[in-house]
This record gives sequence, C-alpha cells and structure tokens, in this order.
Amino acid sequence: MKNKYDVIIVGAGPGGSITAKTAASGGLDVLLIEKRQEIGDPVRCAEGVGKDALKKHIEPDNKWIASEIKGSKIFSPDGTEIKMSEDASSGMKVGYVLERKVFDRVLAQEAAMAGAEVMVKTRATGLLRSNGKVTGIKAMYMGETHNINADIVIGADGIESKVGRWGGIDTALKPNDIETGAQFLVSNIEPGDYNQFYLGDNYAPGGYLWVFPKGKHMANVGLGILGSKSGNVRAISRLHRFLETYMPKGKIVEMVVGGVPVSGPIKQTVADGLILVGDAARQSDPLTGGGITNAMDAGKMAAEVCIKANEKGDYSVKTLKEYEDKWRSTIGKELSKSLQVKNLLVKLNDEQLNQLAHSLDGIDTSKMELPSLLFALFKKNPKILWELKTLFV
Ligand SMILES: Cc1cc2nc3c(=O)[nH]c(=O)nc-3n(C[C@H](O)[C@H](O)[C@H](O)COP(=O)(O)OP(=O)(O)OC[C@H]3O[C@@H](n4cnc5c(N)ncnc54)[C@H](O)[C@@H]3O)c2cc1C
Repeated sequence: MKNKYDVIIVGAGPGGSITAKTAASGGLDVLLIEKRQEIGDPVRCAEGVGKDALKKHIEPDNKWIASEIKGSKIFSPDGTEIKMSEDASSGMKVGYVLERKVFDRVLAQEAAMAGAEVMVKTRATGLLRSNGKVTGIKAMYMGETHNINADIVIGADGIESKVGRWGGIDTALKPNDIETGAQFLVSNIEPGDYNQFYLGDNYAPGGYLWVFPKGKHMANVGLGILGSKSGNVRAISRLHRFLETYMPKGKIVEMVVGGVPVSGPIKQTVADGLILVGDAARQSDPLTGGGITNAMDAGKMAAEVCIKANEKGDYSVKTLKEYEDKWRSTIGKELSKSLQVKNLLVKLNDEQLNQLAHSLDGIDTSKMELPSLLFALFKKNPKILWELKTLFV
C-alpha cells in the first residue's frame, strides 16, 4: 500500500472492479479495497443478468455461468402464466444465472491484471478532506488505521454505502425505497431453464418471488418485499411456505438476506473529489431489483471521467459532473421508466394483477420485449394502467 493514488475505489463488487479495471487500463494509479476477506462471498444476489448487457464488459466464461436461461415465466397471483423468450425478456435480467462467487473474483482479478492494486480485508472508515474537498480515505487494515490519499475516491460500497454520506451526499433510503430480500439456494429440485417470477400478496407484497435455475438441480429461490409492505409475515417464512408447496423435496444449502435499493435516481452522485457508483449511487432497477450490469456500466463511465480529470488535473465537481450527466442520460432514463412502472404495480391488488394477466389471453407474448408487453397490457387495460400513459406517447 502506498500513501497516494490517483483513484481509490471502495468496494470490490461488479461496480468497483469495472471502475478499477477501466481506470487502471487508462494508465491511472488505482487502489481497490474490499472489506471482506473473500471478494464475492457471501453472495447477496439472485445472480440473473441479461446477456448483451454483460457482454459489453466481459466475454462469457463457463467457469462463472451457472445456467443459460431460455426466457422468463411470470405468474400472476392465480397462477396465470406469461411466457417471454430470452431475447425478449432481457429487461428482466434474463440470459445467464451467474456464479457470483467466481464472477466477482474474476472481475477483481481483471482489475489487478490491468494494474490496479487490490486489498482485501481492508475497510474504509472515513474520508480525508482538505478545503471541503475529498482527498482520500481512512482505512482499517490488520487492526491499524491508515490515511491513504487520492485525487478521486469512488464509493462503490453497495447498498449499505457510507462513502456517499461521509462525503455529504444524501443517499438515505426510505422504507418505500428498499426491497428486503431473502433467498435460499435450493438443491434436489428440477427448476427447468426459465427464470420464474411469482407476483401477488401471497408471495411477495410489493415485490416478487423468483426462481432462478443454477444448473439442472439447483435454483436461487428468493423474494423481495417492499420495506413499507413487509407486514407481520417474515420474508423467510414466506419462502419456507413456497418451498413446502412447490418444492417439497428441495434442500436448502445456502441462505442470504439483503436489501435492494429501488428508489430510482438520487439527486447527486458526485462531489469534489468523490464519485458514487452502482448500488451506492442507487442505480439498481426499481422494477426488477437488478443492479449488476448497471453498476458495471456506471463504473466504466466513472473511470472514463476520472481519466479525463487526471489529464486536466481538475477533480472538482465541475469536471466530475460529466459522469453524472452521462449516467443520467442512459441508465437514469431507464431507471425513471422502471420507477414509474414499479410505483404503479405496487398499488395493484391481486385481482387487478390477475386481470392484467388474463387480458393477454390469446396474445403471443413470447417475442415481446418488456416495453411492448407493457404496451399490450396498457392497450387492454387503460383504466388500471392509466398512470403509465406518458411511457407510450
Ligand atoms: C436478494 C438479492 C437479489 C438480487 N438479485 C439480482 C439479480 O438477479 N440481478 C441483478 O442484476 N442484481 C441483483 N441484485 C442486486 C445486485 O446484487 C447489486 O445491484 C449489485 O451487486 C451492485 O453492485 P455494486 O458493485 O454496486 O455493489 P456490491 O456488489 O454490493 O459491492 C459492494 C462491495 O463493497 C464492499 N464494501 C462495503 N462497505 C465497504 C467499506 N467500508 N470498505 C470496503 N469495502 C466495502 C462490500 O463488502 C461489497 O463487496 C440482488 C440483490 C439482492 C439483495
């Protein structure tokens, strides 16, 4: 560890590692720190990603792909099925189910190969500041606190991000802005090769229950419940109930809990000498909860702006704002649309969700992308979906 870098990245998730790899490839002196002793473990993710979104960053490799998925099946509360093909349902993060324990590590390894220094079991505990600007981090390593300087600090420290808050950025999430997730890795089942989504109060109020196959005999079975709708029944109890009903022979071999930010874009993601990326910047999709590839996209954009800032020798918010503008005009637009859809869907009751599913009777949804599916639903159910009209004009 040196006492000065061009860029320090806090958090070696997909967002942090892509930032580190891109910045190091651009010739910057980069430090990537991770508080856990093993990058990628424990996994707090259902591990579903769209193929094209992923391929922008890394060539698919069987060592970190657990399953290739044919498409998705969405079940309304009364069990009515809407089937979408893989090409059509990439917006639902369908394509691959990853083995994130390996995937996250490979990304960090790529960052290291590009020249970044990687330190595990190293926790950021605060920021260094000078004249109101962020100038580095305080980090705890082997029981000792180190002050490490940097021109730019990147907070890629996930949903529990503290870096933003330390830097004076409001990243607070209200109960309505968080999906509480719980997931079992279930073996001794035959999950097929479609990602399955179950809607309705019985499964996951204000969210959905998912089954994402991992190989022929295992699946991530989890659910996300909107913080404000979690009620008295715990997410874990709901999951057990689902298993008893649909997978009675299933054996739980792993369990994770975690939150997903579903707030949509927050107001500010840069400050003098500071950039937030991925879940730390609340860039996960409010509708699906998917955030892996958004974090990677944002990480690349952030690193590219760091390279420019380094050339100019200017790390002020004025220069770093280019990142903010870039991600808002791309990822941000999609997040806003998803937020609009999510805000409406969480208000619908089971009867209305069933009505939507029934209205697609006789319509071939298998080739539709998510926006065309929504449009088909809107045309058939304008009253229920009227709030979404601005999406279609
Ligand atoms: C139950 C569940 C299911 C999900 N399913 C999907 C899915 O199927 N598809 C999808 O695309 N997304 C899914 N997500 C969301 C996805 O996991 C995140 O959006 C994604 O991991 C965000 O990447 P990131 O790099 O921003 O943050 P993270 O992957 O969370 O990485 C942040 C890293 O920062 C480290 N860190 C935190 N604080 C510090 C510190 N002070 N010092 C050093 N290191 C620190 C953490 O240990 C962590 O490794 C799911 C999330 C949950 C909870």
